[in-house]
Amino acid sequence: MKLFLDWSSYENAGMGDAYADIPRSGGDFAKAVAVCINSRQCEQIAKGVMCPSYRITGNALLSPGGRVKLLKTALNSNHQAALQDKTLAEAMSLCVSCKGCKRECENEVDMALIKAEYLAQLHQANALTQRHKIWAHLPRLLRWPLTRRLVLSRNRHRWLALAGEKLFGIAAHARLPEPAPSHSHPDTPLSANSAGRQTEEVVLFVDTFNRHFNPAVAESAAKLLKTAGYTVHVLGSGDRLCCGRTYFNNGMIAQARQQAMQLLQALQPHLAVGRLIVGLEPSCILSLRDEYLKMNLGDAAAGLAERVLLLEEFIASEQTAKRWPLNFKAEGLRVLVHGHCHQKAVGAMKAMRKVLKSVQGLDFKLIESSCCGMAGHFGLEAEHYELSQAMAEQALFPALRAEPQTAVVANGFSCKMQIANGGFNHPQHIAQILYTAIAEHMEEA
Ligand code: SF4
Ligand code: SF4
Repeated sequence: MKLFLDWSSYENAGMGDAYADIPRSGGDFAKAVAVCINSRQCEQIAKGVMCPSYRITGNALLSPGGRVKLLKTALNSNHQAALQDKTLAEAMSLCVSCKGCKRECENEVDMALIKAEYLAQLHQANALTQRHKIWAHLPRLLRWPLTRRLVLSRNRHRWLALAGEKLFGIAAHARLPEPAPSHSHPDTPLSANSAGRQTEEVVLFVDTFNRHFNPAVAESAAKLLKTAGYTVHVLGSGDRLCCGRTYFNNGMIAQARQQAMQLLQALQPHLAVGRLIVGLEPSCILSLRDEYLKMNLGDAAAGLAERVLLLEEFIASEQTAKRWPLNFKAEGLRVLVHGHCHQKAVGAMKAMRKVLKSVQGLDFKLIESSCCGMAGHFGLEAEHYELSQAMAEQALFPALRAEPQTAVVANGFSCKMQIANGGFNHPQHIAQILYTAIAEHMEEA
């Protein structure tokens, strides 16, 4: 079996363990699957994220351990066609790649990564559906003005939404995210140092989603960093750079790798002089620390992984080092905070909490929830729409419903979409909350 991802870190997993039950085909990929010890801990409904599909169905085959069993059977058969088994395909399609198992399973089964390899294997024999292609090529499609017009029309005319469901399986009930009319975030390096102090230079990588759908988020982040005195190099807009997340999620590893290499090349001059890379969308930015290390990108990816931070992680670390010069103030403001699954998977909610705690007068509550259910495009797919809503109804929607007037913070693009589509207050990114909360507000230089 030709593998698409680098599974060499599992090379010695289960070796010499008579009970490891490593499948006959699949090499190191099979060893990554076989790290599951069948403890069935993933069938407990506890705090945390694992496992959204099991939580709503109670079906053991839709837990990480259940998927492992199905995959082992397929890999033991030695036939590529076994990967197309209906029960396996259904179980994998209901994995929302939340990485809950990677963090919470006692043996760190990384089903999100396993699913990417599984899809890549599957696509060798089966052409991608039109819907898969739309999701995967979204960064390209968003460059065409026609795409925005189409999305707007589709959201306004029911017959178009119904046609979209019939032709592509895009749920007619779900509102599609609408691209912003213009991309107003700054394209050029911001070299001003308005705090008048000697500070670092940082790179703000503006991902596809914030660039096209929420440019105000990128703008707030750039202004915030600039006001704090950093020299900000904004990357991602004119350069048409993308992390490759949409390709990766759909098992198009070669295309994801191509995007990753372009991004790595563009970041190289910054990394060479030791600049940190700061980003906004958890699923994009954290892939630079995680998936990139599995995509055969060489030493450059390892170097990048050590220099990438989410905005809140950057601010928290600067606060700890007593280098963050600004005070935040938001007297009387209460916010409910929903963390993206990938933020939770890397423990980045600690940084959210630390930074929000530093905002004087802010009353905030982290919602104890699993996946919001949107999970990229999962909640926009006709056959997954109901399940996606059920995931949101587990904890997130009830928490928001209990406080209908309270402002909402969510950094994930798809989480924002799910919350807004649910009829709740439009969520803000922490960058927007913090920029508004700069107590000693300085005007842009
Ligand atoms: S996936 Fe993890 S938690 Fe679930 S059975 Fe396997 S080892 Fe246990
Ligand atoms: S990635 Fe998430 S949905 Fe998929 S098996 Fe793991 S916990 Fe379940």
